[in-house]
Amino acid sequence: MTSSFVILATIIGLHVVAASDEWAYWGVNGPKDWPGLCKTGSKQSPINIVTEETVKADLGALKFIRYDFAFFGTIVNNGHSVQIELDGLPVYLKGGSLPSTYTLEQIHFHWPAEHTMNGIRDPLELHFVHYDNKYDNVSEASQYENGVAVVATLFELDQEDNLDLTPIMKSMGLVSKWVERNAATMKSKVIPYLFLPKDHTSYYRYNGSLTTPDCNESVMWIVFTKKLTISEQQINIFKNVETSHGTLNFNSRPTQAVGDRTIYHHLDEYSTTITFEPNLFEIFFIFVLSRLLN
Ligand SMILES: [Zn+2]
Repeated sequence: MTSSFVILATIIGLHVVAASDEWAYWGVNGPKDWPGLCKTGSKQSPINIVTEETVKADLGALKFIRYDFAFFGTIVNNGHSVQIELDGLPVYLKGGSLPSTYTLEQIHFHWPAEHTMNGIRDPLELHFVHYDNKYDNVSEASQYENGVAVVATLFELDQEDNLDLTPIMKSMGLVSKWVERNAATMKSKVIPYLFLPKDHTSYYRYNGSLTTPDCNESVMWIVFTKKLTISEQQINIFKNVETSHGTLNFNSRPTQAVGDRTIYHHLDEYSTTITFEPNLFEIFFIFVLSRLLN
């Protein structure tokens, strides 16, 4: 936006808001100045999850379809994060009481984490961003309630490097020194499954928003209770990503008010119980029946 436009807009009484690509994580266009729902919404993300206050519920197991395939992809430094877009067959998320089947559009990172647990903030959070497959993409789906499903994996600090992150780390070098919008073909294949915690059956679930402008309140959030790990050295590679606004030392929106929302906790035991209990009943029923018939 040129300064002459701002002056003209001020004279004729237009309300000047930052264009979507002008927002930032600090300075005058920082989170406090993000417009629209970012400011006025009531179901915003991220949040601090107080584990004692979550409501245990059987939401069913999540199904990660083609997450275990190996994909070539494109890595993008969009000035706000490092994002990976996979090539080839679509990857889906369903189950877990989701109202539809959701297609994976992209994977990106926040450093440090955006969601906190009992006030504790991990050094990294990964977002798998999916859209309801009745829409064409996240941009369209984010206009509708439950249009978007984001799965979040938290990474806690560890002494050792997380070797599963190596392909991403190597490819990041291709885009981390550039300015403006930059993309490159990944150096090696990516297996999304490796970025789910080893035990990914237990998760928190709540209704919220995109954590970047326009902060649309169309997101069903799934945050795993279990975490992966990352080393200090690996975190530093993220912290040194350069953009046209300078080095992206951090890209996390502050936590937002939970308000009257319920945060559900789906426990891994449920999935085990569901698949096991009917079998026990069946066995018992057959046993009783066989006794009666004899
Ligand atoms: Zn995100």
